[in-house]
Amino acid sequence: MSFPIRKFDAVIVGGGGAGLRAALQLSKAGLNTAVLSKVFPTRSHTVAAQGGISASLGNVQEDRWDWHMYDTVKGSDWLGDQDAIEFMCRAAPEAVIELEHMGMPFDRVESGKIYQRPFGGHTAEHGKRAVERACAVADRTGHAMLHTLYQQNVRANTQFFVEWTALDLIRDENGDVVGVTVMEMETGDVYIFHAKAVLFATGGAGRIYASSTNAFMNTGDGLGICARAGIPLEDMEFWQFHPTGVAGAGVLITEGVRGEGGILLNADGERFMERYAPTVKDLASRDVVSRAMAMEIYEGRGCGKNKDHVLLKIDHIGAEKIMEKLPGIREISIQFAGIDPIKDPIPVVPTTHYMMGGIPTNYHGEVVVPKDGNPEVPVKGLYAAGECACASVHGANRLGTNSLLDLVVFGKSAGDSMIAYVKEQSDWKPLPKDAGMFTKQRLDRLNGQANGEKVDALRTELQRTVQLHAGVFRTDAILKEGVDKVLKLYERAKNTEIGDKSMVWNTARIEALELDNLMEVAKATMIAAEARKESRGAHASDDHPDRDDVNWMKHSLFYSADNRLDYKPVHTKPLTVDYIEPAKRVY
Ligand SMILES: Cc1cc2nc3c(=O)[nH]c(=O)nc-3n(C[C@H](O)[C@H](O)[C@H](O)COP(=O)(O)OP(=O)(O)OC[C@H]3O[C@@H](n4cnc5c(N)ncnc54)[C@H](O)[C@@H]3O)c2cc1C
Repeated sequence: MSFPIRKFDAVIVGGGGAGLRAALQLSKAGLNTAVLSKVFPTRSHTVAAQGGISASLGNVQEDRWDWHMYDTVKGSDWLGDQDAIEFMCRAAPEAVIELEHMGMPFDRVESGKIYQRPFGGHTAEHGKRAVERACAVADRTGHAMLHTLYQQNVRANTQFFVEWTALDLIRDENGDVVGVTVMEMETGDVYIFHAKAVLFATGGAGRIYASSTNAFMNTGDGLGICARAGIPLEDMEFWQFHPTGVAGAGVLITEGVRGEGGILLNADGERFMERYAPTVKDLASRDVVSRAMAMEIYEGRGCGKNKDHVLLKIDHIGAEKIMEKLPGIREISIQFAGIDPIKDPIPVVPTTHYMMGGIPTNYHGEVVVPKDGNPEVPVKGLYAAGECACASVHGANRLGTNSLLDLVVFGKSAGDSMIAYVKEQSDWKPLPKDAGMFTKQRLDRLNGQANGEKVDALRTELQRTVQLHAGVFRTDAILKEGVDKVLKLYERAKNTEIGDKSMVWNTARIEALELDNLMEVAKATMIAAEARKESRGAHASDDHPDRDDVNWMKHSLFYSADNRLDYKPVHTKPLTVDYIEPAKRVY
């Protein structure tokens, strides 16, 4: 055996909202639960979530879970699985009240109930009017949620491995998952964590793009690890571009700004969203607003000397409301754009924000793969939740505030599934004889490599390539060229080097290992995007401008080993209600 072994009932890779919610469930059930995180848990990227978490509480205006379900199905452009969407929207009010009872300090309305604001794509009565559904803690909702969940986990005795990184999955001869290899980042020491169940909650992978609202740590590790272990990745062609990243910096300005009354203007001072989405205007869903902005810029109505952005105006709601409801946004605007939104509009451009695809799961949080003619057979011992997972509730386009909801709903349900599975096992399944060998080979290769590719340069080239070839606008030719380029970069990444081994910090080694994960995500993204000959949600092709439900209402599955694409049907049977029939997606 190559590395020291530690045993746990459950290993959770990721200490963000999804990982912490799952861990809480497991620890409270008395299971020996380890949570690994590359950063201190409360620095996980959930901390950056600003606008809110959706739930049809109806604290401001009448609201219903089935309206929320309709909006989510429509937002997904009918690629979301309707059973999973029903499960999530029904569970939302309870999930938010549960967070409130854990101590999450929500803002309040006059009556003392949780404050709710409108958000893009969330409507009452199937699109008739915008509805206040986003439960918010000022513009720091993720921060409040993460701290609440962390404190609850400390109380429940979850074991934290802070600044530890997972490297590879360990599967036995039946393909069941029995553990992971992990590295303590400070020392570089590698261990095998032998587990009855493993959950990935490693968050997004926005760093495959050059301009992203995602943190530097969002390198898609869970996806890369699964892809190398033979698990396909689902719907990777769908990436959300948030309409309002600060121009030139990429930092996010929450949709909550438009929810509070902010409007988008072009160089003529025109509120152009009135032309693209006459009913809900600036609060149309993100793909619609992003494409409208790109179109304004493309047609020469962009602002600034390079005409490369539009303006987000908020001064008309008044200084007092900005200071009370959007203090973080004011700070970001001053620091990153050099303007005070109390007086001037914020320069904004669409920026990569969220990955709709990921590790395929069902709504129980079990990772599912095609086997023996059945499109969705659970991989025993393997679970995923949060942004790295594809349940699939977001389909081709996620509605804002549905991600924080996804973390807590599916984090909890994955936790429950793991408890049941762990309790079935009287003992740990044995590790395979070669456990850890694959990781050892990867590390030996890095340590032995001289005169290879530089990690920094290769990562930059990858990010620029994906930005250019898998952006807001896509054509067959642009995508095809992108596939060729990414496949070449993927090969070159097999020869990365980390410099003089006696001199480097472990961070250099870890960045090289993270690049392997970025490569897996980028390859899956480019190949799945090139293959999809339609426009749906965030995947908009100039050569195939219409949605094609006959041929393309299906999920893609990408297998890394042989660069193969497969497809599986969208779930069209909700749990208790009628199927929401496809319709044209207008706002
Ligand atoms: C700026 C911004 C604002 C947003 N605002 C909202 C909002 O208002 N509402 C909403 O619903 N959504 C919002 N989102 C989206 C939402 O915040 C994210 O999708 C969500 O927080 C992701 O949570 P997660 O638990 O899946 O992952 P994260 O919170 O990103 O956590 C990932 C965890 O995995 C760990 N990890 C990763 N790789 C490894 C590894 N190899 N080994 C060990 N640990 C690892 C990390 O250390 C981290 O602990 C926003 C996103 C951004 C970027």
